[in-house]
Amino acid sequence: MRALVLALLLHDTSALSTATLKPPKLATASTQTLALPFAELSELVGGTGRARSIWDAVRSGQEPLDADAPTTVGARRVLEASGLTAFVPACLEHKDEAADGTTKLLVRLADGLAVEAVLIPHAHLPRTTLCISSQVGCDQGCRFCATARMGLVRNLTPDEILAQFVIASRVAAQSTRMPPLTNIVFMGMGDAGRNAINVKLAATSLIDGEKFRMARSKITISTVGPSPDCFRELSDADGMLAWSVHAADDALRKQLVPSAKYTVDELRAGLLDALKPRPARQRTLMLAATLIAGVNDSPEDARRLAAFVSPIVDVAQKVNVDLIPVNPTDHAPDFLRPSDDALELFRDAIREVEPRVHVALRVTRGDDKTAACGQLHIQRKSLSEARAVAAAAVDAGETPRLVLRRKVDR
Ligand code: SF4
Repeated sequence: MRALVLALLLHDTSALSTATLKPPKLATASTQTLALPFAELSELVGGTGRARSIWDAVRSGQEPLDADAPTTVGARRVLEASGLTAFVPACLEHKDEAADGTTKLLVRLADGLAVEAVLIPHAHLPRTTLCISSQVGCDQGCRFCATARMGLVRNLTPDEILAQFVIASRVAAQSTRMPPLTNIVFMGMGDAGRNAINVKLAATSLIDGEKFRMARSKITISTVGPSPDCFRELSDADGMLAWSVHAADDALRKQLVPSAKYTVDELRAGLLDALKPRPARQRTLMLAATLIAGVNDSPEDARRLAAFVSPIVDVAQKVNVDLIPVNPTDHAPDFLRPSDDALELFRDAIREVEPRVHVALRVTRGDDKTAACGQLHIQRKSLSEARAVAAAAVDAGETPRLVLRRKVDR
């Protein structure tokens, strides 16, 4: 039984046939808990009742292995026998609340690395959106983005993506001024298209009626479009797709996204291939453009973008164009926010050329705590320090779980 338990908890299914499998000492990035399909978890712990008790604990904001969690004795015994030390493989290290209630979370992972996630309460409506990370760092190099400075450290596992949601849900539930967390956008650190498999597994868990119970329509999976195939790979993702297009002119786009290897026409072809097989109600698309004064904010840029979008509108059920005034970062001090007049002219020019799209000017949120779009960044120095702390803990016979326990803030 124990070997089966361990095998099921690991991504590596070859472990199922490995009789000599050693129990994992740590709740490492290779451990699968939150993303484990409910049926497999039920089999693992000996019944759906036991599995439901674990998920009752997760949804109520508790760690299922904690003594006061509503996890059944049987489920707890199986999990502990597997050597598992945490069902939620990350913890909240720090939170920073901006004047408008936007709250940036520093989430520490079991290997000592960290990512940021941002809770964004709606200014007027009773809903909060979580901007979630899919990678530690990012290799897309967007010129206006602070995360780009980190480079790519590694992909997040499905569990690490979901752990951000669990932690953010706890923070939202404890806040007196934050409406319920109902929406998720994969627009934090990293590019979801570069970690499509893990992002899709996480999204499937989010809409699972036995697990997170989110609505598919409330999940937005965003990519800058590293390749046409990145779009195709996201075709069957549970959530709305979004493309951070930024400009419809290849030379201009290359200036903004230096990693771009494909033309916008090639990328659009990949996107259309991804949209066509989707059920009609899941073809809604968001196109995001970060606008920079004097760079890509002219009415001519807007008209070119609108003409470029037209073939997408023919296929998609609905297209929302989100215009994001660039937020200041040390990374690109010369990039300035367009004036309000320029933003309105840009919006109107799009509407004129392609009236079928819905165009919105995004209101900047959380910029006083560098929690706004493009501002997420963790110093590489603190990353290496974190790794050193985790390594020292392991050398000392402590597990990252112990490190996590000391820092956890519930
Ligand atoms: S904007 Fe997104 S894709 Fe571009 S560097 Fe930043 S995190 Fe990566």
